[in-house]
Amino acid sequence: MGFIAEGNTLVWEDAEQYAQYVKDHGIIQFLNIYNANKDRFADQFKWGDEVEYILISKDQDGKSFKLKLRAHEILDKLFQEEKMNPDNVDYLWRPEYGRFMIEGTPGKPYIGMGRQLLAVQTSLQGRRASVERYLKQDESIVTLASYPLLGVKQTFTEPSGQVRGVVAESQFLPDTVINPHFRFSTLTANIRKRRGGNVSINIPMFKDTNTPAYLDSTTYISSPSTSLSSTKPYNIYMDAMGFGMGCCCLQTTFQLSNIEEARTVYDHMAVFAPIMLSLTASSSIFKGYLSDIDARWTVISQSVDDRTPEELGQRELKHNKFVINKSRYDSIDSFLSRSSSFRSEYNDLDLVYDKDIYNKLIEGGVDDLLAKHYAHLFIRDPLVIYSDKITIDDTKHSDHFENIQSTNWQTVRFKPPSPGVDIGWRVEFRPMEVQLTDFQNAAFIVFSALMVKAVSDLKLNFYVPISKVDENMKTAHNRDSCRVDKFYFRKNIHNNSPNGSIESEYELMTINEIFNGKSDFTGLISIVKRYVQSLNFDFETNQTISKYIDFVSKRASGEIKSISTWTREFVRNHPDYNHDSIVTEKIQTDYLARCLDITNNIIHDPEIQGNFN
Ligand code: ADP
Ligand code: MG
Ligand code: MG
Ligand code: MG
Ligand code: MG
Repeated sequence: MGFIAEGNTLVWEDAEQYAQYVKDHGIIQFLNIYNANKDRFADQFKWGDEVEYILISKDQDGKSFKLKLRAHEILDKLFQEEKMNPDNVDYLWRPEYGRFMIEGTPGKPYIGMGRQLLAVQTSLQGRRASVERYLKQDESIVTLASYPLLGVKQTFTEPSGQVRGVVAESQFLPDTVINPHFRFSTLTANIRKRRGGNVSINIPMFKDTNTPAYLDSTTYISSPSTSLSSTKPYNIYMDAMGFGMGCCCLQTTFQLSNIEEARTVYDHMAVFAPIMLSLTASSSIFKGYLSDIDARWTVISQSVDDRTPEELGQRELKHNKFVINKSRYDSIDSFLSRSSSFRSEYNDLDLVYDKDIYNKLIEGGVDDLLAKHYAHLFIRDPLVIYSDKITIDDTKHSDHFENIQSTNWQTVRFKPPSPGVDIGWRVEFRPMEVQLTDFQNAAFIVFSALMVKAVSDLKLNFYVPISKVDENMKTAHNRDSCRVDKFYFRKNIHNNSPNGSIESEYELMTINEIFNGKSDFTGLISIVKRYVQSLNFDFETNQTISKYIDFVSKRASGEIKSISTWTREFVRNHPDYNHDSIVTEKIQTDYLARCLDITNNIIHDPEIQGNFN
């Protein structure tokens, strides 16, 4: 979440009045940052991860788990430690959307590669231990991408709460699931008000042998925009931001040496995003049903979709300026690099952008691609405005820029420096789903870091047309996509002087082929392995990294199951399961107990862990 300002937030009717002001000044702020930093060079490779945790507690009778709504209390204690020792804490803790969530990052970014790579897993272990000091006896934290019974029968939280609160007006989630900080409830309410009704999240239900049609028909349809797809058979309907933002992500951020390197890394990691979403897929149960998707992304995307009917193209544009093709939480719409491997034809989506803002950026000295990128992000309105932070010094602050930037939740984020601190151009890699164990999370964090460095140092070329990246993003959600589906991928990732047709550059490959190779394609694993060799790490570092790379390789080959697949099989093999897609309280209890045992090293499950730990 980054910095969360304290203060009074404006309700939508008031915020709307200031939307243009915030955007105008956001662009001025960006131009100030851009012009002060465009020539920065030789910044160190600094990087870090963000891991999200959920807090659960066991019922008094020991028979069921609940989402425990007091993560903010634990966060307060962790904040105290940070306040007492602001420059030297081991971990930084930040609030997340759910009152049952918490986010942890390393206290300082890692610098370079080398033995720093060993620090990742140690940091993750330390983070868990750090939170655990403040847990009550019946409480645990778990890195679970989606909580199975979120939104089921009003009995899934401790303490329980009333649904249909004034903020989310959800028929499934009480407002008490939302972090008590103003920002989160204001976001929730303002998205709902802006679009003119509750968000409407619809995902396909897994059709098992006994799944009746219209299973989710208990759903009460609350607004016209929800009515269509939510009444279809075999559909899971959810109506609140918490269903998406209550999911846990695994993110990594990288500072590159200069703006051009950052732009190039941004592009290639954008192509890599759906591949990693598929490989890390960890969510196959939503609102108590087995779903027919394996990944959380679309759920979050739909959960914060603030587009109005005009922006959705359902009504003539009168009040709004643009018909917009995607949610604010979605894959990126344009590549940014000016490297020789980039061909303008790769940007084959019809980019929606604000021409006035584009012109201001061009006048301010920004080039066409970057100007279009920001003019595209700025088609969105600011959702949370602090009344005491409207008139600010645009040379010293970037709040208005960050307001729009940080509520464009895309697969990758291009992060400019911040005013007043010595920080470079960064790229945030955002698609991955959180894994159960510190080993698994460390493996994906380190692998993404190696990939970024390999892309940059070996000049790998992942480009495919961006429309194909979008198709890959859809594919990545499919049940077991990691083992059964094919993704558009470049045939030759070493070729940087492209010639010939764009269509001849790529083909469909399985995740296994992309990672482990095939007759005419080397595969990323061996490329990364060779790259690691070239870095001449010490023995211990090499051994640890080899384990991470082997784990990723085995996940890609299917030898190690994704957490989604494993979860689905756990449910389907549970004696209480009726093959009707319903995940009961008892199934969840046994599932969470198993997850905790694996996380806490009490049992080892080779199906998802192989022989690694
Ligand atoms: P957000 O929630 O906005 O994505 P966070 O502050 O939660 O951001 O996380 C920022 C991440 O970036 C952390 O992993 C942190 O270690 C990392 N980071 C911090 N400073 C730098 C830097 N100079 N370069 C690269 N990464 C950094
Ligand atoms: Mg977060
Ligand atoms: Mg964060
Ligand atoms: Mg965040
Ligand atoms: Mg982040």
